[in-house]
Amino acid sequence: MLELRPTCENCNKALPADSLEARICTYECTFCAKCVADVLENVCSNCGGGFVPRPIRPSTNWKGDNYLGKDPASTKVKHRPVDPAEHAGFSAAIKTIPPHKR
Ligand SMILES: [Zn+2]
Ligand SMILES: [Zn+2]
Repeated sequence: MLELRPTCENCNKALPADSLEARICTYECTFCAKCVADVLENVCSNCGGGFVPRPIRPSTNWKGDNYLGKDPASTKVKHRPVDPAEHAGFSAAIKTIPPHKR
């Protein structure tokens, strides 16, 4: 199950469970859409993978207790700002390889 982390790892912007700006990699490294576009260039600084929009967990118990009320978003902040110069080198190398072959 996704943790639904509360903030952007880079800029620490709040990304509540219903945020449409949250982006995650397959390890659930979590960043805001602006940092993914402007700083990360869609390359995760932790694993090198790409990002997708984080799905919204229902706030309503539509079915079988699968909702935020039972499985709330994480409150554990991970703030690990990216070094833009270091990341530029990292992402440039990775971006020479097609996304599905990385
Ligand atoms: Zn951010
Ligand atoms: Zn990652």
